[in-house]
Order: sequence, then structure tokens, then C-alpha cells
Amino acid sequence: MSDIIQLLPDHVANQIAAGEVVQRPASVVKELLENSIDAGATSITLLLKDAGKTLIQVIDDGKGMSPTDARLCFERHATSKIRNAEDLFNLHTKGFRGEALASITAVSHVELKTKQADEEVGTCIKNEGNKIVSQEMVQTAKGTSIAVKNLFFNIPARRNFLKSDNVETRHIIDEFQRVAMAHPQISFVLHHNNKEIYSLKSDNLRRRIVSIFGSKMNEKLVPIDEKTDILTITGFVAKPEFAKKKRGEQFFFVNDRFIKSPYLHHAVTNAFEGLLDNGCHPSYFLYLSVPANTIDINIHPTKTEIKFDNEKALYAMLRATIKHSLGQYNVAPVLDFNRDATLDTPYEFKNKKTISTPKITVDPNFNPFKDELEQTPKKTNFSKPNFSSKVINTTSWDSLYSNMDTIEPIIEPKQEPLFQTEQEVETGKTFQIQRKYILSTIKSGVVLIHQSLAHQRILYEDFLSKINDKGGNSQQLLFPITINFQKEDIGMIYTIKSDLESAGFVFNDFTMESVVIGGVPTLIKESEISQILEQLLEDLRMEVPDANFNYADLMAKSFAKSVSIKTSKKLSLNEQEGLVNDLFSCSNPTTAPNGKAIFKILTLNEIDTIFNN
Ligand code: ADP
Ligand code: MG
Repeated sequence: MSDIIQLLPDHVANQIAAGEVVQRPASVVKELLENSIDAGATSITLLLKDAGKTLIQVIDDGKGMSPTDARLCFERHATSKIRNAEDLFNLHTKGFRGEALASITAVSHVELKTKQADEEVGTCIKNEGNKIVSQEMVQTAKGTSIAVKNLFFNIPARRNFLKSDNVETRHIIDEFQRVAMAHPQISFVLHHNNKEIYSLKSDNLRRRIVSIFGSKMNEKLVPIDEKTDILTITGFVAKPEFAKKKRGEQFFFVNDRFIKSPYLHHAVTNAFEGLLDNGCHPSYFLYLSVPANTIDINIHPTKTEIKFDNEKALYAMLRATIKHSLGQYNVAPVLDFNRDATLDTPYEFKNKKTISTPKITVDPNFNPFKDELEQTPKKTNFSKPNFSSKVINTTSWDSLYSNMDTIEPIIEPKQEPLFQTEQEVETGKTFQIQRKYILSTIKSGVVLIHQSLAHQRILYEDFLSKINDKGGNSQQLLFPITINFQKEDIGMIYTIKSDLESAGFVFNDFTMESVVIGGVPTLIKESEISQILEQLLEDLRMEVPDANFNYADLMAKSFAKSVSIKTSKKLSLNEQEGLVNDLFSCSNPTTAPNGKAIFKILTLNEIDTIFNN
């Protein structure tokens, strides 16, 4: 038998390893930024083109590399940061595997320029797919510049797998923010497609957080400070009244490294117990320092997890410290056991950005002759339903059957009403069950409708058609409102501005930190605008694009979810009927935008079986 095992050539081995380290442009950004920090940089610039797909360049003023090191740094397991296994247990640098540059060059074109402080000239090396294609001496500033071009040029499958520019940029910005927050003393600049996104001066921690998250953050922060033998905790938590329904800004850093820790997160939420409205999440920026030999970060190059030796003690200390600080800053109610809840300012009111003035809204669709002109009920919006006619037009129920292949066909001639008698229709045979479902009698039995999902479907189709036809009606706000967002969220809103305008939004102004809104779609209440946009940003962030992805669809889904009536809302008989009517005039009344079934029919036969009749 001949031998069949062969050692993989280096470039193949590197490509395999690259799959681990370099998953997307943001992974490259993280590695390069961390290298600059390890090199002692005081100023770091990140330049991006096309969400990093075309260019990621990091320029630092760190210690630079000698010509030999500049060649060597592309080799796998080439590192200046550890020398032996013991060093692994006493790490003071971000990198230590010597894998990043080898992995990055395996899947891109890299140009490295570097110069040490005491040298006259520097080195420039071009490396393509792990092959050095040129090396020359250059005039360059002290420090290192690494430009990564055409990421995944040799792995088209990977390249195609990347998400939209917006999503990839968002991931990059997440990494950038984490590194920038861990090192407030270093100045950072970020440009994307020649536009400045961040310019962060060397600063104290509070000002760094504020310059990333916007000036409104300042008033929200409660300082945290505690020092013991095994642990130092500094940083901030946001006051409970600023807790968010979505994506609280939650950051843990351990020895200046961003980490995720569900365990420590639990300790924080626990400290907030009783202070947060239901379903709200606290924001926090917490910096833990522990002796380097009591943690293990050697788990996985891309993972942000960490193992602590004395987890339980950390948990208890973290929780106690935050509780204490919240109390000290008079945030925690002292006598919460007999507090009169009616004296509390409603959460909604406290958070209002601008006092709203009563405004008049006009339904631009209103046409006094409509009923005469049209026989079929027009799809109405639920907040202003057209319930004038109690007689349910049977045509709107057709779709109930057309989509029901699986259900026993009990197709009646169209002219026949679905309801048994006129009488039944007159009295409106719908019932609300547990403020969640609507039960309606139909000829074949009963139909149980999920009220919230039904409304989502109605709104979704309505929003979608408006966005696509650019026909979204707008209600003018008497006083435009200003909403603050993080910079990259502003960027995101700006990208989808035209779709938002089609839906009915009117933007008066964009600044780096805020948008000024002068009008909103008629279905959206002024008090909900901020929450609805937050939800949209969250949904965009979570976007998993496929071949059918488009922004209009995502937007319509997101708005529908936000605006729809929810479970636990009591509906009048009129509203129930209107909802049922509107649902069955939808083009697809069977499934909600999230793919769930909206209703279930129980046929008389099925009901009979229940009773063994
Ligand atoms: P690691 O960071 O794990 O050591 P890398 O592949 O990221 O591995 O980098 C390899 C080596 O290249 C580093 O150990 C360091 O000596 C050198 N290097 C990388 N980036 C820089 C930089 N920006 N400035 C100076 N040296 C650098
Ligand atoms: Mg590194």
C-alpha cells in the first residue's frame, strides 16, 4: 500500500486557519487595531472603503518594525509577544498567537509600511495571498500602516457570503467602538468612503463614552469605582430611568479587552432589581482589572469570552458595587416597600424629548362619496377604521378559502353569506378571548384569529404598498421633533432615507448626532416615533439578507410590528369586526409577516369530534 498522507502546503494551511480568524471585514479591523495598541500607538487611524470589502487600512504611530520583522510578521506563529508557554499565563498584550497577519494575508492583498523611531527609512512590503511580491525601502512616518485590499479575493464563496455594506459597517463600528472605549487615552479616527465617522481625542473615560454615544449620554452616567485585592471595577452604569427596551449599551472590559459574559451581565441586572420597568435593559460600561494570571483568554481567537478563576467572588463584588453606587447617587428608591406608585412620573412622560402640542390630523383618504363609488370595502387603517357598514361584505372572505388547500373544502357559492343569517351579521358574531384572540363564527364552524398577528399582516401590506408606490401619507408635526442617535445609526437612517420618505417620514435635518423629523406616516403616533425607529435599527442590525431581501420589506415588517395592536389590548366589537374584515381583504391573510399562522379554523366536524358527537 502506498502512503497517502501529505502535509498541506503552507498557503493552504494558512487559508484554512484564516477561516477561523478572518470571518468578515470587522475581524480584520479588530486584529489590526489590537496590533497597533500592542505596538504602543498613541494615535490610530482607520480608513475603510465599501464597508472594508475594498479597503481596510490602519495607520498607527507605534514602535514600527525592523525590515526583518516586517517580512517575518506574515509568517504563521510569528509573534514578538510571547516567548514561551509561561508567558501565556501572564499576558499583557492583545495578540499572542502570531496568527492574525498570516491569516489576513492568506485571503487578501496587503501593503505594509513601517518604520522604527530611530531609523532613517522604513520598509514597504506587498504581500498577495501570503506571497511577498515586493519589498523596498520607503520614506514613511514613524509607526506602521497596514492596508488590506480585496478581502477574500481568492475565496469568492466567502466574499459572496458577506452581508450588505450597512451590516458589515455596523460590525466594524462595533469593533471600533469596543477598542476605542477600552483605550480612551489613545486618539482614534475613523473614515468610511472618505467621510469622517469618528474623530476621538485622547480623553478621560467619561468623555470618550460621551463622544461615542452622543452628548445626551453624559447626564445618564452613574460612576462606579471599587478597588479590592483581587479586583478593580471602574466605569459607569446608566441611571435606571434611561434603561432601554432594546439593545442597552452593555460593555464589559476585562484588563482593557472587550468581553462578553452572561454571568457578569446577570450580576449587573441583579443589582438593578426592582429599578427597571418590565422588559427594560440597563446600559453599562464596566472596566474590570484582575491579575493577568487569574484569567484565561486563550479560548478562541475570535471569541470574546474569558474564564475567571474566582467567578463567584467577582459576581458578588460587582453586584454589591453597582447597588451601592446606585444608592449613593440617589437613584435607588430608599423606601421602595411603601412608595406610592401614583406619585411616580410616568416613564413615557419623563422620556419625552419635546413636549407635544395638540395637532390636527386630517385623513387625506377621506372621500364622502366613497361608499357609493365602491362596493368592496377598501383596506382601512386600523386606527381610523371604516366601520360604518355593519354588513360584512362576503367578497372579502373569499381569500379565507382560496388559501386553504389543506382544509376540508367547504366551498359555498360565492353569493351565499358566510354567516348563517342576516341576524348573526347584524349582531356581529365576534368575541374577544383573553384579549388575545378573536373568535368569529363562520358557516363551516369558527375561526380563531390572533389579534396582534392579524393586525401586523394588515399594516405590513399597507406599509409595503405605500413604500413601494411612494404613496405614504404624512402627518405634519406642528413642532418638528429632534431625536438623538449614535452616529452610525444616523448613517443607517440616512442610507434608507428615501424608503422612509416613501413611507411618509419627513426629515427636516440630519446632524452627526440627531435627526429632526417634521412629519411621520399617518399610522404612527408622535409619541412612538423614537421607539419605532429604534426598533427599525435593531431589525436592520439583525438582518439576515437572502436573495429576496429588500429594505422596503424589512421596514414594512418592522413598522407593522411596532405599531400593531398587542396582546392584552381590549377591542370593541367594532374594532374586532374591522380587524377581521381588513385581514381577509389582505392579499395573504393566512400568515403574519414573521411567518406565523394568523388564524385557525375549527370546523363543525372537528368540534363534533371533541364532543364525540
Ligand atoms: P500577534 O499579534 O498575535 O503577535 P500578528 O499576526 O497579529 O500576531 O502580528 C505578528 C507580529 O507582527 C506581532 O507580534 C508584532 O511583532 C508585529 N506587528 C503587527 N502589527 C504591528 C504594528 N502595527 N506595529 C508594530 N508591530 C506589529
Ligand atoms: Mg495581533
